[in-house]
Amino acid sequence: MNVHLLKSPELSEDTYRDVVLMLRQYPGPIRFIESELGIMDAEPKDQYWEDEKKFDSKENVEFIQACLSSDEALPYSFPMTDKRLTWQDLFRQCENYRRERCVSPDDHVILLTDIGNDKNWFGSMDDSLKNYFIHTENWGHYFQNQVDVRFPIAYEVIVWLLRGCIYSSRHEMQEHLHQTSIGCFMDYCENKKEIILKMRTADLCPKCLDHINLKDLQSNFVNQILDTMDGIRNNLIFRERVRIMRKPSRIQVEGFMKHIFLTDFGNLCVRLNPKERALYLLFLNHPEGISIPELYDHHQELLTIYQRLSGRESQENIRRAIASLVNPLESDISINLSRIKRKFKEAVGEELLPFYDITGEHGERKFIKLDRELVTYKD
Ligand SMILES: [Zn+2]
Repeated sequence: MNVHLLKSPELSEDTYRDVVLMLRQYPGPIRFIESELGIMDAEPKDQYWEDEKKFDSKENVEFIQACLSSDEALPYSFPMTDKRLTWQDLFRQCENYRRERCVSPDDHVILLTDIGNDKNWFGSMDDSLKNYFIHTENWGHYFQNQVDVRFPIAYEVIVWLLRGCIYSSRHEMQEHLHQTSIGCFMDYCENKKEIILKMRTADLCPKCLDHINLKDLQSNFVNQILDTMDGIRNNLIFRERVRIMRKPSRIQVEGFMKHIFLTDFGNLCVRLNPKERALYLLFLNHPEGISIPELYDHHQELLTIYQRLSGRESQENIRRAIASLVNPLESDISINLSRIKRKFKEAVGEELLPFYDITGEHGERKFIKLDRELVTYKD
């Protein structure tokens, strides 16, 4: 099954790539295809939000008890105005893309966009059950930046895909939505803050499970969906426990390209580029630490790692990159260290950062504090 993940022009490249990588982590018959929408063929219109209550509800209906207290959410000041598109406008982008690229009618097309929609849903699908949109912005409002935005976006992709495959019409889908949140993927989440409950349980209630069984879907398709939901739930639960336990996740260094995965964080991949990753792997190999001037002594080791990770880069470029990195008179090392820090902070949060960061007193050795018993290597 082909699923085209369509990047809207305004969506950040980093967020988009992260979501794609995350969805591809779980094996199965769903193939996620990267694609980009050249231009958005619609003009967003101003939408006025009187207060937070309206902003948090779908179609401005009655407020349902939130499962997150509102002071946990990022404060927006109300009233405010933002730009929205209609559902028709959003689905038209999927149709335009289908026409331009001659996409097979069996394929699913999912538009990922920062632009909100007039009915204020996280996402939706059209009557063909093959075109979708997912709103990629405002997640900080619901999770207070405690959750990596990749997770809710990937979660919505998976949930809509499942809905698209088990119902025969939009109408049927809407009839099956649970009006009261019970932590099932079919929860309506009238109050959008309730989505955290849905993601935390990442469950299918018995009624919905029966419905899926009736549809006679391929079991490996259902497994891929469930594995993805489990990954997202594990990450969320781990994050919540972290605040109390302060226990770091295991790390797995995987494959020829030595990508770094946070095992207990729903197997989240830390998005380091080859140079940052080479540097990180060097420090992982040296629990005793390395001072900046000592880096030169590890020149050869770093070069060997980077050669492997840098793909088609020329030997000359590789040598130059490493020479600049180990030169204490250049700022390259501190730039790379601070990028690594930022990326780990995004992945594990402030509390756990000290375990993963490459850090040390000024002029002293720098090292990664993480217990190496928590580090495994897999080819
Ligand atoms: Zn259900």
